Amino acid sequence: MTERAMQQPEEQSRKRSATEIMVRLSEIFTSIEGEGAFFGTKTMFVRLAGCPLKCHWCDTSYAIPMDSGNVHAADKVKEMISRELQENTFKVNFTGGEPLAQHEAVIELAKFVREKGTKTYLESACYDSRRFAKVLPHIDICKIEFKMRDAKAVDDSNYDNLRKNELECLKIAIDAEKKPYIKVVVSNSTDIHDFSDLVKQIFAVASPRNIAGFIIQPTHKIDEPVLERLFAFYDAIYPFYSEVRVIPQLHKIIGAR
Ligand code: SF4
Repeated sequence: MTERAMQQPEEQSRKRSATEIMVRLSEIFTSIEGEGAFFGTKTMFVRLAGCPLKCHWCDTSYAIPMDSGNVHAADKVKEMISRELQENTFKVNFTGGEPLAQHEAVIELAKFVREKGTKTYLESACYDSRRFAKVLPHIDICKIEFKMRDAKAVDDSNYDNLRKNELECLKIAIDAEKKPYIKVVVSNSTDIHDFSDLVKQIFAVASPRNIAGFIIQPTHKIDEPVLERLFAFYDAIYPFYSEVRVIPQLHKIIGAR
């Protein structure tokens, strides 16, 4: 993927009216949040189809192709959300695929969810900080995800640009006082020196008081990290942030979707 492709063409970001907005949707369902700092909460997932990244351990590979899912008018998706929204739902999770690939749709749907009195949550790979900045005002809870090199999310030549965007997203969320939490997926192939460098970069931008958590998420059934390696990642963060947690994907353990 080229840097140009990651940044997306300018004409795609022109303002469209609500009636013009189309959503390429993979699925909508309600389950128990299985990842991150808000795991265990009853959550509606709005999975947008299409992702410009290609993490080798991706567990929603069916939602990666840009022509996957089905295209609906935003108003139709709002009806689907209203039908699916259960009592006591803690948040609506805009996920993917990559939600920022359809940032105008996310803004439109997030406004609708908030009008219904439910919190909005963005589950993004933070690959495009300009789009992130546009969506953020409509999001109540946000996670900033950092991809380690072994995830193979982008080609080597684009890795520095991805990291730059991730760090910019972190700064934007902190400046907006969103108190984001940070998540990094680690495998047994994740380089501890690269990981330590990332931690230093993160805490050059963040401080313990303006983040809501730091989650180390081990890969599941693919190159799983052994305990000694998890300790090494944990130990790299602890001097900066003692509330670090290692949290596996809960939904896979309890057999939820
Ligand atoms: S960014 Fe997310 S959806 Fe895209 S390939 Fe990686 S894990 Fe899959």
